[in-house]
Amino acid sequence: MASFNLLLLPGDGIGPEVMTEVKKLLDWMNSTGVAKFETEADLVGGAAYDAHKVSITDQAVKMAGEADAVLFGAVGGPQWDSVPYDARPEAGLLRLRKDLEMFANLRPAICYPALASASSLKPEIVEGLDIMIVRELTGGVYFGEPKEIVTLENGEKRGVDTQVYTTHEIERIGRVAFELARKRGNKVTSSEKRNVMRSGLLWNQVITDLHKREYSDVVLEHMLADALGMQLVRWPKQFDVIVTDNLFGDMLSDVASMLTGSLGMLPSASMGIADPKTGKRKSMYEPVHGSAPDIAGKGLANPIAMMGSFAMALRYSLGLGEAADMVEKAISNVLNSGLRTKDIAAAGQNAVSTQEMGAAIIKEVQHIAG
Ligand code: NAD
Repeated sequence: MASFNLLLLPGDGIGPEVMTEVKKLLDWMNSTGVAKFETEADLVGGAAYDAHKVSITDQAVKMAGEADAVLFGAVGGPQWDSVPYDARPEAGLLRLRKDLEMFANLRPAICYPALASASSLKPEIVEGLDIMIVRELTGGVYFGEPKEIVTLENGEKRGVDTQVYTTHEIERIGRVAFELARKRGNKVTSSEKRNVMRSGLLWNQVITDLHKREYSDVVLEHMLADALGMQLVRWPKQFDVIVTDNLFGDMLSDVASMLTGSLGMLPSASMGIADPKTGKRKSMYEPVHGSAPDIAGKGLANPIAMMGSFAMALRYSLGLGEAADMVEKAISNVLNSGLRTKDIAAAGQNAVSTQEMGAAIIKEVQHIAG
């Protein structure tokens, strides 16, 4: 039986509440032999600050680097607003991303048919939507130098950011996209602004060459980023995997994620470089939402984003696609049955608690597994 080592970092606010539901699912998978999961847990964010005066310890970062996958809840909360800047809860998350060299951010936008009417678009446009945005996370205009505000001789100020990409950076994010497409709908849409940006021209050339050289079995199309923004709201189901740079990816992934309704529904993943020997990537899976201090401790949090993040870990880091299918199908079936946490309930509809939603999903996984 395959054996995996997972690090759980529940964090703050609703993080521990939604992680508890994943832990129950893991326990069930262990007991029935889906795989053998060994889990370790540690503190991150405000919880780590309270215990150690840092937002993550060196030991926890080391464990994250050694794990087959990291499951991360959420960090932050008003009680840590005045802690030193370097020890603020979010610094723990940023340190993990940096130390594990997480250069690829994966944000799926899946619209469960039962929630299609909750989208701001017409149900037929989004029902059954399943796309994946792969955003480059460590390069581009957010990090390029020079990055400054200078005062000119005439007293006017000038703000400068620099969009920079190298062949190597474009190739490695391209590889993530092509490899994902092979496990999904086998199509990649690469997006930039080659009509007005040199870096866009290079991006286009490098992705085209990489495709020809290593991934010609995958369908590749190129679309300018502004056109892609328009197509995302016009007919999003035409896409499978979209790969784009840090800036465009930031905007386009937010647009895509909101096609699907509530923040409590959205999983995500961050991937690092592949191990040269095993090909395995360091990876971290987390819900898109934060620690939701307004509902923390009340049993109101929707655990689906966290459980969906675990399903992504099963599929993309652990090679357990069938188990991932089971979890995703169970989520879909439970939503079809009409069960809702408060964030996705219709006005006046009875809502269930975090624990009740988690238990219903696990029961449905058991049912599907037979
Ligand atoms: P948030 O995502 O925590 O909450 C926004 C709104 O969505 C709130 O009304 C909340 O109740 C609701 N919500 C979020 N997740 C939900 C869920 N699973 N089920 C039901 N409702 C849910 O964003 P915020 O309020 O802007 O930030 C709160 C704290 O979280 C801040 O300290 C912020 O810095 C931090 N934060 C952390 C992360 C992270 O850990 N990755 C991401 C975003 C924000």
